[in-house]
Amino acid sequence: MTIRQEDVLAWIKTYAGIIAENKEYLTQLDAAIGDADHGANMNRGFQAVVGKMPEMADKDIGTILKTVGMTLLSTVGGAGGPLYGTLFLQAGMKSVGKMELTLEDWATMLDAAVSGVVMRGKAELGDKTMVDALTPAVQALKQACEAGLDIPTALKNSATAAQEGMQKTIPLVARKGRASYLGERSAGHQDPGSTSSYFLIKTAADTWGKA
Ligand code: ADP
Ligand code: MG
Repeated sequence: MTIRQEDVLAWIKTYAGIIAENKEYLTQLDAAIGDADHGANMNRGFQAVVGKMPEMADKDIGTILKTVGMTLLSTVGGAGGPLYGTLFLQAGMKSVGKMELTLEDWATMLDAAVSGVVMRGKAELGDKTMVDALTPAVQALKQACEAGLDIPTALKNSATAAQEGMQKTIPLVARKGRASYLGERSAGHQDPGSTSSYFLIKTAADTWGKA
């Protein structure tokens, strides 16, 4: 079993829908510790991505993901846009010319994607950012590869790890991004970026784990 090109397209399209559905929720989370625009930012970016889907239809996975990344970079402002743009661009660099992915390919791509986010945003685990959801997801995927788990189980484990990482941001004091301006007052709120990142990993598990 592999993750095919059409599965990658389905993941992106489904994620755009999840972001649209959760736009208000993400905005509420950002209202508490930021500037109340994370839902709108992500939705603007992913609606633009949906508009590019016809031209992605017959492309390889690397081209698709690089197109998503470039679209996010050009349509989403703030901190989230460049970070999500980097995530998709880096994943695309590791999947050039591919029409399907093994679990190992996906683990390698997500690892590079998250490393790109860390390099760009300089956030460490525990800084109360999207990295807190993404890094555990990568770790869980790598462990699943080493243990020889099947794709659905591996993806489910990575989604659970992302969810736990997201929940762990609640008590943290933010050390990066706008939320860090609040200092101690940022504690007690879930980080919006870790939430949209959890949705990304969860959507991959839901879309690719069915086959
Ligand atoms: P902005 O903060 O510019 O309003 P968004 O609201 O779209 O942008 O995104 C905020 C999210 O971006 C935060 O919840 C956090 O997860 C993430 N973020 C902010 N700064 C960084 C950083 N330096 N590294 C990683 N993620 C970050
Ligand atoms: Mg914001």
